[in-house]
Amino acid sequence: MKEKNKYRIFLSPPHQSGQELEYFNRVLQENWLAPGGMQVEQLESQLKNIANRKYCVALNSGTAALHLALKALKVGPGDFVFCQSFSFVATANPIAYVGAHPIFIDSEATTWNMDPALLEEAIVDLHHKNIRPKAIIYAHIYGMPALVKELLRISQTYQIPIIEDAAEALGSSIDGKSVGQFGDISILSFNGNKVVTTAGGGALLTDDEEIAHKALMLATQARSLNEGYQHTEVGYNYRMSNLSAALGQAQLGMLKKWVNQKRNIFQSYQRINASDLQVEWIDEVNGIYANRWLSVFLFRNHATMLEAMETLLKNGIESRRFWMPLDKMGIYRIQKAYLTGMASRLFELGICLPSGVGLTVDEQQEIIHLLSH
Ligand SMILES: *Cc1c(COP(=O)(O)O)cnc(C)c1O
Repeated sequence: MKEKNKYRIFLSPPHQSGQELEYFNRVLQENWLAPGGMQVEQLESQLKNIANRKYCVALNSGTAALHLALKALKVGPGDFVFCQSFSFVATANPIAYVGAHPIFIDSEATTWNMDPALLEEAIVDLHHKNIRPKAIIYAHIYGMPALVKELLRISQTYQIPIIEDAAEALGSSIDGKSVGQFGDISILSFNGNKVVTTAGGGALLTDDEEIAHKALMLATQARSLNEGYQHTEVGYNYRMSNLSAALGQAQLGMLKKWVNQKRNIFQSYQRINASDLQVEWIDEVNGIYANRWLSVFLFRNHATMLEAMETLLKNGIESRRFWMPLDKMGIYRIQKAYLTGMASRLFELGICLPSGVGLTVDEQQEIIHLLSH
């Protein structure tokens, strides 16, 4: 509870469209206060449209979606899975859930996501050691799309299925194509801090009917529709509730507008550059359109980064350091990794600045002023 009062301006608080009550009322009138239901189906079809996918399974978290993605690809105990090192821990945890081992791959400098050249090097190196990983999980960190073309080519060449963790990137696109369609399976998150929220939720997207059916089956306690309550497999309770889906629909209509707002916030922050506190950022290249989920900047050195965070904290403003590279984290340190030092450098220098859709111009001016002293 104390945490709550520490900040006047939050990093990425949820925002409302104003249509939430209307959507909730529909659910209450239907009295479908359960997993699955009309609103879930409608949300799934909207997500399929956005990401140009054949199948969508709405779930109660993005983490659950990653877990089911690995299950559907038959990744199991003792298997290896390539995983982007520079990501939120939820990208890697599902690998542990299925008893497999992550092999971390460092990031490249243009998007801060999985380095395709390094991935290919790792595949070849492991091949010599007779290790053939079962899947690749990459992410679009902070909403900046990864070098998808190269990653998909490598997945194809070496016949390793690829999972797109688009949890932070809804609203981002490459050559006009939305994220959520770049991989054998894609996942989204609707956690409270993401661009669009269902107060906790996620989705799995794919064009493969078998994978979609498997994911849906596993998400609903592995109940076989034909045989009633006979269960031939251990399942999970991962389905999205109808109430959450209603919230998601009320929010999804605002996606374009909210992404626009986030992009404006990001642009304004670039003015911080005027002072001695030089900041760096990544631009959009090669047809990339980023949702700028969080406004992220690199400071000149570690000390100026910490100083900036301290200044903001003293003024009741929440900021956050970059994701700690997963290969550096206690729980995963013993795992294999192919590193260039990129993610470590990002962790040393990077800050996420307040990026809420509701951030006012005055609030942003204040932040820019504080950092530009
Ligand atoms: C938020 C997030 C997830 C997990 O989503 P949840 O819905 O919170 O379970 C996975 N990967 C990344 C990169 C995320 O940012």
